[in-house]
Amino acid sequence: MQGEIRMKNYKLLTPGPLTTTSTVKQEMLFDHCTWDDDYKKITLKIRKQLLQLAHVSQDDYTVVLMQGSGTFGVESVITSVVGDDEKLLIIANGAYGDRMRDICEHAHVAYEFISFAENESPDAKKVIQILGEDSSITHVAMVHSETTSGILNNIESVAKVVKEHQKVFIVDAMSSFGGVDIEVGKLGIDFLISSANKCIQGVPGFSFIIANKQLLIESQGKARSLSLDLYDQWKTMEKDGKWRFTSPTHVVLAFSKALEELLAEGGIAARSKRYYNNNRLLIQKMAEMGMASYVDIEYQGPIITTFYYPENKQFAFPDMYRYIKKRGYAIYPGKLTTAETFRIGNIGEIYEEDILNLCDIIRDFLAEV
Ligand SMILES: *Cc1c(COP(=O)(O)O)cnc(C)c1O
Repeated sequence: MQGEIRMKNYKLLTPGPLTTTSTVKQEMLFDHCTWDDDYKKITLKIRKQLLQLAHVSQDDYTVVLMQGSGTFGVESVITSVVGDDEKLLIIANGAYGDRMRDICEHAHVAYEFISFAENESPDAKKVIQILGEDSSITHVAMVHSETTSGILNNIESVAKVVKEHQKVFIVDAMSSFGGVDIEVGKLGIDFLISSANKCIQGVPGFSFIIANKQLLIESQGKARSLSLDLYDQWKTMEKDGKWRFTSPTHVVLAFSKALEELLAEGGIAARSKRYYNNNRLLIQKMAEMGMASYVDIEYQGPIITTFYYPENKQFAFPDMYRYIKKRGYAIYPGKLTTAETFRIGNIGEIYEEDILNLCDIIRDFLAEV
């Protein structure tokens, strides 16, 4: 039976859901009761650990867990903290920045939008200019690791400008939190959003928000949606760890285990190092095979890499995808609007040996086409 399961299995080289450990998966074999004290304690423990990973204290910050995928978390923040008489500046250089605009359109949140090339980190000088021109802007939002391309945006330079102008700073750190160290307090990030199934290496089912406590309290009553009301969700959870509506119990148990395993690995520093090693090795090996990466190495994050199709080959991505999948790995199609590309992620239970295996498989595939 075990053998059969393994036969069907492949490792995910995708930006999440990702390959988790068998010990994380095993946690989900228990059907936990939600009002039980043991369960509520797990929620409280998770929230505390996330504050520590973000380098913030519980006097200034708090954590809200929100049912749903990562987008539910982003939507919850935007529609709960930007009031009817306020305005959000969205800084975008990829699909996830664009999605924030979509959220504003749906919920009728007032916004300003600036976009940069998908392989270009947003320029803080441009942000200064816009904040200077439009004093009605109250909040600024951007993506840290733009998973569309794999670029790691320079949030530090933008954070400085946002704080100088005393605006509220919202960061979608979905695919970076846990895999890249982020000094949430020092940077003055007021709302940081990430989810269970990315660098913490849990399974999909909820997102989490690391929130400036004072600003969260001040946002009471602004939410446009009941289920995604960030303040209400927090208020209930803050009491004793009970979730407001049905919580994804299995996902919470798996996440708790995943956090323990992150700490056992050596925390964010060690995990970041492993991801960076995977990533740089992959880029080097792919370059040796004539496949260039799209983002300049200076801005390339450790999470996922976009590669151009090889120039000198008759190339069909679905053929390569099937060839690689048969041999034990799943990769990702490209998401750029400007070039033909594909993506390879290296977050999750992925090690140097996997990268070397994958590159051997790709080499064999290229030799056959
Ligand atoms: C994964 C991701 C999201 C959320 O996507 P979901 O499909 O809703 O989980 C948002 N932003 C970024 C940068 C992401 O990588």
